[in-house]
Amino acid sequence: MSLVTLPELLEHAGKNRYAVGYFESWDIYSLEATIAAAEANRSPVILGIGGLSGNHEWLQSGGLELYGAACRTLADRAKVPVATLFNEAESFSEAAGGLGAGFNSVMMHTQGWDQDKLIADTASLVAAAHALNIAVEGEIGALAEIKDGVLDEAGASYTSPESAEFFVKETGVDCLAVAVGNVHFVTGGHIPTVQVDLIKEIGNAVNVPLVLHGGSGTPDDQTRRAVEAGITKVNVGTKLKHVFGQALVAELGRPVEDPNLVFGSRFEGDANSRAGVALTKEIQRLMDVFGSTGQAGR
Ligand SMILES: [Zn+2]
Repeated sequence: MSLVTLPELLEHAGKNRYAVGYFESWDIYSLEATIAAAEANRSPVILGIGGLSGNHEWLQSGGLELYGAACRTLADRAKVPVATLFNEAESFSEAAGGLGAGFNSVMMHTQGWDQDKLIADTASLVAAAHALNIAVEGEIGALAEIKDGVLDEAGASYTSPESAEFFVKETGVDCLAVAVGNVHFVTGGHIPTVQVDLIKEIGNAVNVPLVLHGGSGTPDDQTRRAVEAGITKVNVGTKLKHVFGQALVAELGRPVEDPNLVFGSRFEGDANSRAGVALTKEIQRLMDVFGSTGQAGR
């Protein structure tokens, strides 16, 4: 239990045909809500924070260390298997900065990079990370994303089995994020179409676990089929902030009579803890969809 490596988590998921959720956090309350869901469901979990929507100046001037230490502390104390991830660093140097910060896995957001830089920087990160027993998630292909409420497919490209095979062989990544119709940042009505057959073809071409980003907008039935097809890690971010945000707005919709109770007390009246309960519920629901409920200690 407690801290385990990402490859160990995903190997167990692959053998038992479920996916481990990476539920992206943004503060201590959301990290704790994620652990609470994992312990309640007896589910393995991947705990972490991401750079995709973050302020990189802040991350690189202490933010990473703060998050890394919090993730590591919570993972060590958890009663279920936990891996810790610094997700979607903006560059090799930012990812490398996360190596000593307490995360036992890292990933770079490489969409739009040219092929030579992608291979060279990913291979360098793998070498640096593996020397410290830290895992690396790589990605090939690019997701479409929702921008200002509209689907932006300009930079999107599907992962091909051939490019996946080449990329994994050249870089030595521990797991691979694929672009198979999944979309980043969905909160509204857009319904993506995940290409299940393409997941199977990529899975046949590589010998590493496959990761599905864009878990916020993928409907449950499509996620289940993606897991059946071989996905062993699903990333969810945007939707969690949406759930937490709505709950927090509802909490703060009444007068704050005792600010010491409402902010940071961790008692029943703590607004962030109460919003965290809504977040925990949503993560528990997603763990059921991913099939990871009850898989801790099996
Ligand atoms: Zn992502």
